[in-house]
Formats: sequence, structure tokens, C-alpha cells
Amino acid sequence: MQHYHSEQIDSILSSVFGFRSFRPHQEEIVRAILEGRDVFAVMPTGGGKSLCYQLPARLMDGVCVVVSPLISLMKDQVDAARINGLNAGTLNSTISATEKNEIGAALRQNMLDLLYISPERFNSEHFIERLKTLKVAFFAVDEAHCISEWGHDFRPDYLALSKIVHEFPSVPVAAFTATATPQVANDIVTRLGLRNPHLTRASFNRPNLFYRVIMKQNLDEQLRDFLADHAGESGIIYRSSRKKVDATAEMLQSNGISARPYHAGMSDVYRHAAQEAFSRDECQIIVATIAFGMGIDKSNVRFVVHADLPKNIEGYYQETGRAGRDGEPADCTLFFGRQDIVQQLHFVDEIEDGHARDIAKEQLRQMIRLAEHNSCRRVMLLKYFGEDFSTSNCNGCDICVDDHEWEDATIPAQKVLSAIHRTKESFGAVHLTEVLVGANTEKIRQFKHNLLPTYGVGKDKSKNYWRTVIDALISQKIIFVENPTLPILKLTEEAWFILRGQKKFQMMKQEIHSGKTKTSSLSATNQLSDLMPFSKPLFERLREIRTELAKAENVPPYVVFSDRTLHEIARDFPRNPEELLQIHGVGQHKFEAYGSRFLAVVKEFCEQYPDEAANIKSSSLPLVSVPANLTLTPTYLETYSLIRQGRTIDEMVKERNLARSTIVGHLEKLGEAGLEISVDQFFVPERLAQIEKWFRESGGETENFLLKPAVELSAGQLDYEEARLARIFLRKRISKK
Ligand code: ADP
Ligand code: MG
Repeated sequence: MQHYHSEQIDSILSSVFGFRSFRPHQEEIVRAILEGRDVFAVMPTGGGKSLCYQLPARLMDGVCVVVSPLISLMKDQVDAARINGLNAGTLNSTISATEKNEIGAALRQNMLDLLYISPERFNSEHFIERLKTLKVAFFAVDEAHCISEWGHDFRPDYLALSKIVHEFPSVPVAAFTATATPQVANDIVTRLGLRNPHLTRASFNRPNLFYRVIMKQNLDEQLRDFLADHAGESGIIYRSSRKKVDATAEMLQSNGISARPYHAGMSDVYRHAAQEAFSRDECQIIVATIAFGMGIDKSNVRFVVHADLPKNIEGYYQETGRAGRDGEPADCTLFFGRQDIVQQLHFVDEIEDGHARDIAKEQLRQMIRLAEHNSCRRVMLLKYFGEDFSTSNCNGCDICVDDHEWEDATIPAQKVLSAIHRTKESFGAVHLTEVLVGANTEKIRQFKHNLLPTYGVGKDKSKNYWRTVIDALISQKIIFVENPTLPILKLTEEAWFILRGQKKFQMMKQEIHSGKTKTSSLSATNQLSDLMPFSKPLFERLREIRTELAKAENVPPYVVFSDRTLHEIARDFPRNPEELLQIHGVGQHKFEAYGSRFLAVVKEFCEQYPDEAANIKSSSLPLVSVPANLTLTPTYLETYSLIRQGRTIDEMVKERNLARSTIVGHLEKLGEAGLEISVDQFFVPERLAQIEKWFRESGGETENFLLKPAVELSAGQLDYEEARLARIFLRKRISKK
């Protein structure tokens, strides 16, 4: 057996693929394959499974036969491999006779690195015999969960693959899947007959994905708001039925948003065209049922929206997993409405097999818990896959990145609770909101609820508002639904404390719930380096060139270069080949094919905007060492980045769409973290001296810097925020002394 040196492996990684280092587990898998072992690897979507077989395929003598489930996507896979300079081909019904001949010849001459084929090929005796005449380095089975009936995507064609180990006893088999359940994993190993395989189970954590749940109210409006924040970005919107897919796609189209529907009720041709357009960035958004997604390798999907409640966590994870394969920040938003629970339960009830129904019900329950719990989404998600992800702050979900603003809602809560109490804890949310706003419904007249003291006490607010309060009360476990099939709201003991005024109730501010999410997708990352700004106008130009080149070669744009590569170019402004080759994703082959075009764009851009490169450099975050025990979430760092760019408080309030008090809160935390903030940016010396005087004269002990006495003493000249802001610098001064 041939021995491979680390240098060989590393050099292919950088020169062919253009990557500086392996992602977790890639190297061990590559080595196991090179050693001739069977492999079974469970890695999340975007984990980089392709490289695990493509790299050895390049190094080893003979062809690597890749089994992949969807013929329609094989062309993209082949193109992507070819653009990296690998010799790849496919033999399936879609290719021309000429191409078939070329590939046949390459195979006979042992020139091909990768041969992509569909599983049903192994049902053909003829095909197997032909393969036997060739030198096969190893087999790679992609999407291997398709062989398991337990998996969410069973394909009977895959069963033919159990023949491989019998027909080719001396050829190694490497199987890959992103499906996480242990049952499916065992099943795959058994059915493929893997022989003492090297086993890899990567973490399912996707650090670049930001998870968020928003209460669903007026979905269309919420989607439009959401998309306004994601202008021009590729994304998928999942809906639970074909009808809803069509309705949402139409709604978006009529609002001038580039969107196309995708579901199993459409003709193959039309569906394929939609997928193709999405893949090539010719259409921005795909609105789809869960039929969409498997095997789509589009790496620059920047967001995945679930506009309806998914059936289970596994599905939710797989679907959100399609975002951000390139490792760049991406956003996963679930619009969660209580009415969806009822609908999903309805689907579940239609399952005939009792056991299957119980499982489905339990899975749905877990999904609901994930959506309504006020605890870290990432922790819950990973726990589902048996992973103990312990962190006090994942920095990548709406719960952990605390830029919600909370407001006191004790009085509205009391109104809701009293309505529940007065109606004898026998009604659901819809009826209760109607009582609160004083609606004149049949049901209200029937139960004489118009005579209750609570009737109409909430007229000043909308039904949606009351719905939000009810949802907040449920999620904080102050009221609860006893039986999910009969959504009647009941009071807990906690509720009585609030009713009697012994306890306060807080909820997140409305605008957050309404979907006007101000958290940019930057929050999706917890790496300082990713917060480095890049030139947006240059990025746009690079994108145009990418599209143009992709069109010329008839491949999807992300195959030419990933978003990550373009971001880095727009940040580093490479001026020469050496610098460009340093950029992530630029390998020798791609460099030769596209390098000069991209260098030319950078050069032209720099001539037109001579200051931009310097601006980007100076606005990028300085290298600061943040104490390890201090968690600074990206939202703080974003503020910090703006401070470094010289923004005033008011400008930041505008730009980040956060309250002044929140921004000041960020500054306080940044100050505590020991990050350098220049006092001159916020105070002229006289003002600070004046504030210090108020503190000293009102507070006694200066070190305490009590806000209230100082603000009161100033008689309207100092507000709380300014006092807090001043305190950051005054405290520092004291600690320096
Ligand atoms: P999977 O099949 O596991 O979902 P892919 O093989 O499609 O993932 O890879 C996802 C993305 O990650 C691709 O854009 C790929 O170019 C990129 N990638 C793979 N390996 C690396 C690496 N070592 N460094 C950086 N990016 C990588
Ligand atoms: Mg893959």
C-alpha cells in the first residue's frame, strides 16, 4: 500500500482546494481512507464531507466512485469538482453521447479522479462487471442515510448498495451522512456491511448559524420586514403545505421580491427550473415545502425561515442546516404561532399506526418546547442529538444574545390573568383576546362575558398585542395549556402573585416580537475576525463578476467562489497573485481560471475609490484581548466596532436601531471588559467635570456613583443614560489612581 506524506496532503488542501486548514475531523477521515479503511462519518451539513473523499480521490491511484442520490444535482457536483481542477465525471441519462465517450475513455486510461453515479446503477449486472475491469480506489456513499428505513429520506434504490462489499471485497467504502440519530447510524453500517470502519461523529453544533424564534402574528408583513433586512441575500422559506407555499411565493412576487415556489405538486420541469434559478442566484428566494433541499450544495444560503412549525427537531435541524455551508454567518428564523400547534396535531392524529403516532406526537412536543422555551436554543437543539453543549452563552441565538429590551407589563398581564380567572379558566387565547378588546361575538353573548368587569379593559390595544402578552405569559410559565388538543388556559400559582400585585411581570418589547429584527446576521458569529468589515460596494462588484463567470461556464456562482472568498477579497484588497492566493478558497486551479479577472476588479475599484481600502482597514476591529471569562456577545462587539469608527451615541442608536439605554449598556460592559474607549469621543472635559461634581455632591462616597441622587441633584440637566455613560470614565479614573 502506498504511503502518503502529510506534506502531500497539506499541499493538495491548499493548492487544489484553496483552504488553509482542515475542518474538524476531515483530516482523520482523509487519512483513514488513504490507509485503505472503511469509513463511516456523521457530520453536519456544511461540515465539509465532500472534501473528505475528493482529496484522497485526487491523491490515490484509480477512480473514486461516488454514489449520490439525485441525478439532477450530479452535474453541479461534477462542475464544482472540475473547477477545483479535479478530473470528475458522471455516467447517467442526462449527459450527451460525446461526454459519455469522453468519460469512458478517461476511465479506461485510469485518468478519472471521481465518478459520480446514482445508486440504482448497482442493480445492473453489466455496470458492476464494467466497474470490475477498472481500478477503483474506493467507494464514497454520500447521503448514506437514504439506505435506512428509519431515516427521514429512505430511498429503496440505496438498498442495492449492500452489494458493493460483496462484489468488491478488497475496495474500501466510505459512507457519509448528516443524519444524527444513533438508530439510523447503526442501520447504515449494517446495511452497507462496513468492515470495522473508522467511525467519526462530528459535533452537530453549527457556530455560524443564528437561531431565533419570533411570535407569528401577521406573517406576510413579518416576512416582508424580515426580507427588507436581508435584501439581496439568498434564502429559503419553508412552509407546511403546497397551498401555503404558493400563497407566500405569490405574495412576495407581487411585492417585487424575487421568489419562486417549490413543491412536489409542481411539474418536474418547473420545479427543476426553480431550483436551478435559485442555485444560480437568478432568483433570491425559494419558498418550499420540506421536499426542497436535500443534496443542494448551494453554499451561500444566508437565511432559512420556517414560516410554520416544523414537525420535529430533526427536520428543523436539517432544514436550518442548509444555511451557511460556507461557514459565513447565516440566520435561522422560526415564526412560531400557537395556531400551528393545533394544525400539526391534526396531521399527527391522522397517522394510522398507533406507535408511529405516539412517536410523532412526542417529536412534535419536543419541537414545541424548543420553540417556546426561554433557554438557549443551541443547547436544546444539541441536547436532542445527545450532545452536551455546555455554555452559559452560545452567542448565537435570540435567547443568549440579549439585545431584547424588556418592558414592564405587569398591568397588561393582570388584565389577561383576570380575564382567565373571570371566565373560570375554561377558554382559549382567541376568546380571551376578544373579551379583552370588548368584541361583540356570538360566544361572548352566549356566555354573557360582556357583563364581566374585564370585558373591554384592553380596548386600547390590538388583539395581536394581547396575543403577545398571552404568549409571553405561557412561555414564562405563568399560565399554561393543560391539554394541547384543547387549548384552554389555566392559571399557575405564579399567576396569583402577579394578580395580587406581589410580583412584577416583564416581557420583551413589541417590535422584537413583530419581526422587525434589528439583530443583523452578524450576530450569527462569535468570532472577532468575522466582524471585520468588508467593502460592500466592492463585494457587490465581485459578485457581479462571479455571476458573469458562472454564466459563461454554466455553473452556479457559489461554485466559482464562495461568499466567504468574496468577503475576504473585499476586506483584504489583494493586489497581486501572491496576495490573492492567500485568500480562503483560492486554489491554484481557480486562481488560474479567474485570478486575473478578480485582481482587475480590485485594481479598478481601488483606482476609483482610493480611500476605501484604508477605510476598511482602519474600521476593522483592533486586536484586543478579551478576558477569557468574559463573554462579549457579537452585539457588544458590533457596538465596539462602531465606537472605533468614531460614532456618537445618537448615531449608534440610529444605525443599530437600539434604545439609547441599550447602547449605553453596551458601553458599560465594554468598559468593564477593559476595552479602550476614548472619553473625548463622548464628553468635553467641562461636561464630565460637571457630572462628576453632581455625583460627588449628591452621593457622598464618590466611588459608588449613585445615579439617582446625581440625576435628581442636577434638576433636569442630567439624565440616567448620560450619568451611566459618565460613570464609565469616572470609575476608570479612580481605578487608575
Ligand atoms: P457537506 O457535504 O458536509 O454538507 P460540503 O462538502 O458541501 O459540506 O462543504 C460545505 C462548504 O464548506 C463548501 O463550500 C466547502 O467548499 C467548504 N469547505 C469544506 N472544507 C473546508 C475547509 N477545510 N476549509 C474551509 N472550507 C471548507
Ligand atoms: Mg454533501
